[in-house]
Amino acid sequence: MFEKEKADVLKACLRMDKYGLIALSGGNVSLRMPTGEVIVTPSGMIYEDMVPEDMLVVDLDGNIIEGERKASVDTLALLYIFKHRPDINCVIHTHQPYATGLGLVMDEIPCNLTTLANATQGPVKVAPYSSAASMQMGIEAVENLGDSLAVVLKHHGVIGVGNSLKQAMYSVVYLEEAAKTIFIGYCLDKNMPMFTQEQIDRAVRVFKYYGQDTGELPEDLKY
Ligand SMILES: [Zn+2]
Repeated sequence: MFEKEKADVLKACLRMDKYGLIALSGGNVSLRMPTGEVIVTPSGMIYEDMVPEDMLVVDLDGNIIEGERKASVDTLALLYIFKHRPDINCVIHTHQPYATGLGLVMDEIPCNLTTLANATQGPVKVAPYSSAASMQMGIEAVENLGDSLAVVLKHHGVIGVGNSLKQAMYSVVYLEEAAKTIFIGYCLDKNMPMFTQEQIDRAVRVFKYYGQDTGELPEDLKY
């Protein structure tokens, strides 16, 4: 079941690797189907060696519906997020170094770049530490996501979410790009300039018209 979607999840895993968001078998990708089941990546398998059949299909209570492998150790936390946020259909968990590194010293990654506003829709909060594989990881993610599409897990990594695989992937990839830029700015001047809320709101709106399958940019955003 869900052969195409399993292949899409594997493609997303390879993208996480390509963009330096994980190494070897770190992190995980999970995708909710319109019928309610969730595709989850297997535990501890190197993405480059994975095939779509290695994916698990589970229900929201964690029962395995299909798949021979052991599911990601974070599955309970991931399912907690899906249960408590019906608007979220995809969760991408990474160990991306720049965003995670900023999370060691900040309580929130400020939203002062257009790409970050585009991809996460605002500042990214840093959730208090919770152990990997614990339900608490999912609870902290839900409590700290707010309206953002990403949250940093202190001493651990990042959770990016979206209504689709594409939206969650944009969130984590652009968060990392922005985190690198913010790191540079922060090194040069700890009082680097910040976006105003109006600038963030406009950048969020502009991104809704980005890409091939969106409408024309409204007049008020052109000037
Ligand atoms: Zn992790």
